[in-house]
Amino acid sequence: MTSGSHSYEAALERAKAHALEWLASLPDRPVGPSQDADGLAAAFGHPLPEDPTDPATVIDELVACAEPGLMAMPSGRFFGWVIGGTLPAALGADWLVSAWDQNAGLRYATPAMAAAEEAAGGWLLDLLGLPSGADVGFTTGATMANFVGLASGRQWVLERVGWDLPKDGLFGAPRVRVFVGEERHEVIDLALRYLGLGAPTAVAVDAQGRLDPEALAEAMTDVDGPAIVCLQAGNLHSGAFDPMADAVRIAHTHGAWVHVDGAFGLWAAVSPRYRTHVAGLDTADSWATDAHKTLNVPYDCGVAIVSRPEVVRSVFGVHTDYLIQAEGGPGDPFEKVPELSRRARGIPVWAALRSLGRSGTIGLVEGLAAHAQSLANGLARIPGVEVVNDVVFTQVCVSFGSDERTREVTARLIADGTAWMSGSRWHDRDVLRISVSNWSTDADDVAASLGAVERAVALPESS
Ligand SMILES: *Cc1c(COP(=O)(O)O)cnc(C)c1O
Repeated sequence: MTSGSHSYEAALERAKAHALEWLASLPDRPVGPSQDADGLAAAFGHPLPEDPTDPATVIDELVACAEPGLMAMPSGRFFGWVIGGTLPAALGADWLVSAWDQNAGLRYATPAMAAAEEAAGGWLLDLLGLPSGADVGFTTGATMANFVGLASGRQWVLERVGWDLPKDGLFGAPRVRVFVGEERHEVIDLALRYLGLGAPTAVAVDAQGRLDPEALAEAMTDVDGPAIVCLQAGNLHSGAFDPMADAVRIAHTHGAWVHVDGAFGLWAAVSPRYRTHVAGLDTADSWATDAHKTLNVPYDCGVAIVSRPEVVRSVFGVHTDYLIQAEGGPGDPFEKVPELSRRARGIPVWAALRSLGRSGTIGLVEGLAAHAQSLANGLARIPGVEVVNDVVFTQVCVSFGSDERTREVTARLIADGTAWMSGSRWHDRDVLRISVSNWSTDADDVAASLGAVERAVALPESS
């Protein structure tokens, strides 16, 4: 046998040293990578060696090749897209998930993983104020968590009109109508494509991107067959929340299933200060969120929550002789997500929540929103900068004047390297979008980032 711990030791020691070096470099290194993927291709892509290489040497070579192309996403000055950092307990737990290497699909086979994920799921339902009997599944991200909720909705609304989807499939089925806000995330459309449901009906939104309940009521007036309404908690640009209570009430009047995409915004529900934004959230039927955004666990981890366990399990359960399952009860992990085999990605969630506690989780969410507010206030004071959204949560969008000027300032800011914010387009204009999603962002990061924007604005316009 060559599998004693000594054969792992050198590689893991090297990995630990490199990991600590990387984390220690975050406060000072430029946020952006210094080389692009094409530039790095040669280092990684030499011809595959004929002979084996010592594991520790491989780890050293990996780091040497990767270092110039790493984006400092876990930096407190990274505000691009919507991307969380990594809490220490979550990172440590994630390493153990790999070392334990449990295929976490079955309670019977990997009981420690199942029990810890069930505990994490229970804590999440409690923190988010969602029904305690709901099923919680851990997916790769919100894309797949949205897919789980919408797939459950599709099955349930068809079953209610007597259509047996698992047996008869979609061909010849009654049409399932799907309603979304005009500013839903594109992965909702993607999930609907996976599901064969086609393009949804887009319902009008207000100036902050919130679905207009009157427009929803009007769009649904003639609905008396299977229907799904997909709401959003947390608009990518404004951070705004669809009016949950009103929209759910309208949807349920028509017998529709209501799914909520709350990839980052669902976390507003943990805070006494922000939960009014999502009042009525618990009356929906399924919810999707990410743990790799607001909760700051390492990639990848999304959370799919379905109020009716029997529905999600009938969609994703598989029953074969070699998978020995318990009847009833909490269900097997694989019955709640698309994957059969998977890593125990709920373990870092357990560790993150265990380390934060209730007050720490509330503090995390409120801290992100407070830093977003300070950034917005500081930006608004810089001449020539306009904050274009109502800052209600963690997202801030700014314009520097014309689209051209906004793009130019954005490019200078990225080149400066102090902070990373991403360019985007919202309501037909170019904007610089800021998402505060990293637990480690502090007042110094906010000040340094404002300084970087000020420098980018002050440089004379290039012609
Ligand atoms: C990030 C995001 C998604 C997609 O989530 P992934 O984790 O990237 O799969 C969906 N909806 C919203 C609102 C998001 O912010």
